[in-house]
Amino acid sequence: MERTLTFGEKNLLASIFGAMLPYGEIRVRINSAEIGGENNSITPEGHPYFSPHHAKSDFSSATLDEQWIFFHEMTHSWQYFHNIRPLANAIGLFIASMGNYQGTYKYDLAGKTRFGDFNIEQQASLVADYFSLSKGGAVRDNASRTPKLTDYDLVIRDFRASGRPTVWHAQNGRWVRTGG
Ligand SMILES: [Zn+2]
Repeated sequence: MERTLTFGEKNLLASIFGAMLPYGEIRVRINSAEIGGENNSITPEGHPYFSPHHAKSDFSSATLDEQWIFFHEMTHSWQYFHNIRPLANAIGLFIASMGNYQGTYKYDLAGKTRFGDFNIEQQASLVADYFSLSKGGAVRDNASRTPKLTDYDLVIRDFRASGRPTVWHAQNGRWVRTGG
């Protein structure tokens, strides 16, 4: 079972992602095979698979906690459509972390200006934390327990300069690249 993004979700995402996601292309699915465990959500190739416990018919009316997960996964979608391969990166991270994958999510903004300086899980948590903080909510993976929204300014500005997504379509038997 899959669905497209709702009108409310597109509006919510646009507040952070602007024109950087191909909203009409994205299909939202459920991780019914429970890959990575029943609480795990994954977005290996641009399209999110939400844990059966966290899946929603419309994340725009979900709680801030649930929207945090939504923004984390949609940052993996952004990675895919900006030619960063989440699946291959996750395997590399898993090996580098020697199995402590959970330890790869924590990030420290001190002295950082480039979004690309963070690994794929740090990027996803950074955007989700930024969104949550902007709504008056809590952060999950910032190494600082009392971050300010302005701590994110430089890194988020760099992220927002990434431009439009790249989408590939099969057309007359050939792959054609378009902006989403
Ligand atoms: Zn993730």
